[in-house]
Amino acid sequence: MLDDTQPYADQGHSCCGASAPATKNRFNLVLINPYELGRQPFALAEASAWLKRAGCEVRCLDLALQKLEPAVLAEADAVAIYLGMHTATRIALEALPRLRQLAPQAALAAFGLYAPMNETLLRGLGVTAIFGGESEPDLVSWANALRAGNGSTLAQATIVRHDKIEFLTPDRTDLPQLARYAHLVLPDGTTRVAGFVDSTRGCKHLCRHCPVVPVYEGKFRVVPVEVVLADIAQQIEAGAQHISFGDHDFLNGPTHALNVVRALHACYPQFTYDATIKIQHLIDHAELLPELKRTGCLFIIAAVESVDDRVLDYLAKHHTRADFYRAVGLVREAGIALAPTWVAFHPWSTLDSYRDLLTSLVELRLVEAVPPVQLMIRLLIPSGSKLLELPGFQDLIGAFDQKLLGYPWQNPDPRVDALQREIQAYVAQAEKSNTPRRETFEHIWRLTHEMAGKPMPSLTGRDLGQPIPHMSEPWYCCAEPTEAQLEGF
Ligand code: SF4
Repeated sequence: MLDDTQPYADQGHSCCGASAPATKNRFNLVLINPYELGRQPFALAEASAWLKRAGCEVRCLDLALQKLEPAVLAEADAVAIYLGMHTATRIALEALPRLRQLAPQAALAAFGLYAPMNETLLRGLGVTAIFGGESEPDLVSWANALRAGNGSTLAQATIVRHDKIEFLTPDRTDLPQLARYAHLVLPDGTTRVAGFVDSTRGCKHLCRHCPVVPVYEGKFRVVPVEVVLADIAQQIEAGAQHISFGDHDFLNGPTHALNVVRALHACYPQFTYDATIKIQHLIDHAELLPELKRTGCLFIIAAVESVDDRVLDYLAKHHTRADFYRAVGLVREAGIALAPTWVAFHPWSTLDSYRDLLTSLVELRLVEAVPPVQLMIRLLIPSGSKLLELPGFQDLIGAFDQKLLGYPWQNPDPRVDALQREIQAYVAQAEKSNTPRRETFEHIWRLTHEMAGKPMPSLTGRDLGQPIPHMSEPWYCCAEPTEAQLEGF
């Protein structure tokens, strides 16, 4: 694996398209996104802008909404698959054999967080070039080398970079219409077309369970404000009425974040947005919350993960249960809705700790703010996870499972795993039938108390909180893919 200390020139290729050795006039490159949480993918649009500037003919296929198109793939000289998360990688592994049938002539690359982490597996399925981190310059170099008939070195490369790179205005012209992606759902049931923007990549934190960490190692990169605004403008032109920031943590660079939302609000005062912000940042930058509200922030997603301080310490989240309770108050005070997310089941879960999690949501009136899928999520332990370095952790898990793309584990109490399976089956059904969140929660509440053999406090008449704005996509990056997702290409 090459590292990012090596300048591009040392590898015998340029970092941009300017000096492309154009020995092949037309070079067809297909970019594929298996899944991106219902978002129109920034990663494909940014790569597309770079590759088009370098002279490639680029087609994008978003498998969340499109199929592998035989006619497009038959013409491809190269195909690059974006693996930004677990679900996407599972789908890609299922899709790769068919992809190779449809494009036997094409060189294959994978890029995104999960590409370097699954290098061996991907190579076994015919992927030869693997790029992680700030990959656009390497994608261009790879395409240029292939075009010049000299792709052999890069075609075998695994390159992870954190260099500061140029950001271009993402080219979204070849992606499905914005209105076909996840939309904003308001508490009254009305919907708004949402645009999807990244204002940073990577993360400056080192949470042990997080797949960003093995690739970015505590670094984040800023997309210039003018590029973010140009991307927002083109999505507003395409019908967006709300902007969803896809940054791993929107307040990694608080000054940058403020510059972005102030500029957004100055240009489009009627526009709303949402962002993901960690609990620690909500507390450390509490003074910014009123400004986020003023500039149109409708809701904040926070990866709380657990209300058990011992588990939060294992995960190196740098917040406590008390911090979470405090952050709920601060965000509410600012008039913004909070949507906490969870790693609901892990090897340290007990029936009591899971009951405690549910009880916290009741106490804090957050039941309507939590998508039910969040209440069934099992800890994923991908290749390269920093959890593997936690003393004693390897005793809790099995050998790496290539099908699951992770290290399997079982809870020491089989009743906890049985409960998780019951909840998972129920939630999948409830999502299909649009069961209200409160009703789903009440069912999970009952299942949990029955499994624990504990008396069940009644929820009848309790204020469990009001529905909050949310995105229509019910699935999450840490959830296992559904059968439909695995077969949908
Ligand atoms: S969990 Fe969130 S804050 Fe922690 S490293 Fe990952 S992206 Fe950063």
